[in-house]
Amino acid sequence: MAGPSGHVDPPRDSAVRPNPTVRLNNGVTIPQIGLGVFQVPAAEVQRVTEVALSVGYRHIDTAAAYNNEQGVGHAIRASGLPRDQLFVTSKLRNGDQGHQAACRAYTESCDRLRLDQLDLYLIHWLNPVADLYIQSWQALERIYLQNEVRSIGVSNFTGSHLRRLLERADVVPVVNQIELHPSFQQRSIVSTSQGLGIAVEAYSPLGQGQDLRLQPVTRIARSSGRTPAQVILRWHLQHGHIVIPKSRKPDRIAENISLVNDPLSEDDMRDLDGVQAGMRVGNDPATFGLSQIR
Ligand code: NDP
Repeated sequence: MAGPSGHVDPPRDSAVRPNPTVRLNNGVTIPQIGLGVFQVPAAEVQRVTEVALSVGYRHIDTAAAYNNEQGVGHAIRASGLPRDQLFVTSKLRNGDQGHQAACRAYTESCDRLRLDQLDLYLIHWLNPVADLYIQSWQALERIYLQNEVRSIGVSNFTGSHLRRLLERADVVPVVNQIELHPSFQQRSIVSTSQGLGIAVEAYSPLGQGQDLRLQPVTRIARSSGRTPAQVILRWHLQHGHIVIPKSRKPDRIAENISLVNDPLSEDDMRDLDGVQAGMRVGNDPATFGLSQIR
């Protein structure tokens, strides 16, 4: 567990787990389960990431705005894992949107992570007030076409913003990373993204912990011998979502990747699909954008 210095003990059960992959529209494969590090303090992120890598995670999702890329980079180097076995995502912060700023921001993220190249770089938010996401995308395309990044994608894009982007784009985003969990299923954006060949990456996949208490989740957990988190994450995998659950706790980090075998039944999937729509737990992409200024 985390102490005042950010120390995190390894989980009790440290068996390495298999991790399914998804093939993106450019042929690159991404581990379907990754560790999200939003709200993991900089002082703690190295230990948390090291724990995750030790139990089989090979995909880490960070962002310039999380102010913890450096610690993720330290953990990657400390792990000694070959670079080609890891999948590292970071994101362009709102204050860096625009063509030149985005090119510079990508280099700065690589420097903080101490990596020559990221596996995935995303536009973090639409930031519709600034309306710079098309120029930002063109910068990401340039970086991609120069082979400086393996894949590029977007986050928090609605169907109409995706279509507007594609009218101007040469490269189709490989993913749309959106808030997605049983009580906030965003079916229209999911189907638009998938219809355009864009994989759906679920952020806040546990509803920041709130969905763990949903009635069908706790019922299925009891009857199937899983934890509530494993029920929700398994539901995501069976829908083909890429998931990036966040935890600072070693046992939960291990728990969240121990779910690849033994699918949920069709009845259980139907019950989870039928969860009453709730509220988003994060920011609304239609209005969010003023924070994350450098
Ligand atoms: P999650 O849905 O992953 O939930 C995290 C919360 O659930 C934490 O409070 C954590 O607590 C708790 N938790 C995790 N695992 C378990 C478990 N097995 N049992 C009980 N509780 C558990 O929310 P996040 O918002 O953190 O989303 C995950 C990732 O998605 C982020 O880290 C980030 O990488 C990405 N993201 C992207 C956004 C974007 O705009 N693109 C926006 C928001 C998130 P504890 O840590 O104490 O275990």
